Amino acid sequence: LNRRAYLALVHHPTLDRTGKVVTTAITTLDMHDLARLARTYGLGGVFIQTNLPAQAKLAGRLLGHWVEGFGSEYNPHRREALEGLSLVESIGEAVEKVAEACGGRPRVLATSARDEVGLRVDFGEARRAFLADERPLLVLFGTGWGLAPEALSLCDGIIEPIGAPSGYNHLSVRSAASIIVDRLFGQYSV
Ligand code: SAM
Repeated sequence: LNRRAYLALVHHPTLDRTGKVVTTAITTLDMHDLARLARTYGLGGVFIQTNLPAQAKLAGRLLGHWVEGFGSEYNPHRREALEGLSLVESIGEAVEKVAEACGGRPRVLATSARDEVGLRVDFGEARRAFLADERPLLVLFGTGWGLAPEALSLCDGIIEPIGAPSGYNHLSVRSAASIIVDRLFGQYSV
């Protein structure tokens, strides 16, 4: 069921601390953790998006090492997770790849630590809608200081922030992704 759900880690267009639109650097920790998360919940895959060829080359080398090279035999569990990663140049390319794989355009939902202006979707609605229809889902995650308005405007909705009971609202994207994936696709209920 969760195979029609995909994640994308967006490195451009994102914001820096001053609010400028930038391309952030890919970090290998994000790639490893998102790959394991998606594999654990049985998702369709994870897109690592960057518009910079040099960054894509670096990420491609890492994937080659763990998926086909020495690392694939050294750690097969890691290979199994990283096989679900693909590199894309743009959010649009990720949308097209999901459409190709699933036979229909995905609903695209953004995530943010802030209450963004836009079509806000709460976790319950996002989860119910995913279960109720056949449509694939692509969930976008930001890096740096979050997704730029240009990225948010490509989305069908923006999922409500996770919430910070202590007032400290600075989760890493890896932690945020785990919480969000569990709320949307997990089986735990009280
Ligand atoms: N430098 C940071 C790191 O180490 O991960 C990157 C921060 S990046 C802005 C965090 C991304 O994680 C956001 O764009 C969003 O996708 C997600 N995120 C973080 N906190 C969140 C929250 N409270 N609710 C929803 N998403 C959140």
